[in-house]
Amino acid sequence: MLGKTHIVNSIAITAIPLTNNIIDTQYAIILFLVAIGSLIPDIDEPNSIIGRKLKFLSYPINIFFGHRTITHNLILFTALAIFFYTKEYTYLLALNIGILLHILQDSITYQGIKNGLFPIRRLGYNFVLFPRAFRFAVGSITEHIIFMFSVMFILFVIYKQIVLI
Ligand SMILES: [Zn+2]
Repeated sequence: MLGKTHIVNSIAITAIPLTNNIIDTQYAIILFLVAIGSLIPDIDEPNSIIGRKLKFLSYPINIFFGHRTITHNLILFTALAIFFYTKEYTYLLALNIGILLHILQDSITYQGIKNGLFPIRRLGYNFVLFPRAFRFAVGSITEHIIFMFSVMFILFVIYKQIVLI
């Protein structure tokens, strides 16, 4: 998935509670951190939004691990999410939720995530959420539709916020 789709889709999903709750400062920060988190996994891709900014990190990670490997590991980031949740590290949890949403979003593309459940499953397979017929190519029409619906939902949430106040 493209960086912009990761951002708007992650914000849209995290904004669901705001359809009938007024946003407060903490939730605004959470939304921002989820958006940042949703870009973090692609630090393994030097041409991504975050990879271009942090080339000193993206090149070595890409060379050593490849794209969509360690920074897209569902087990690692699920474990971290549970840890942050139990410690009540709200803002780290928000970043981590952005990362998890990114991983799930990538796992509905054709490519899937290489070894996404390592070490629970052995190396050499692709983690995907749906059968191929329900997945799509990065940058395809389907991705544009997801992007558009996410933007529309965010606009709807903004409208609801104005109405609620
Ligand atoms: Zn990715």
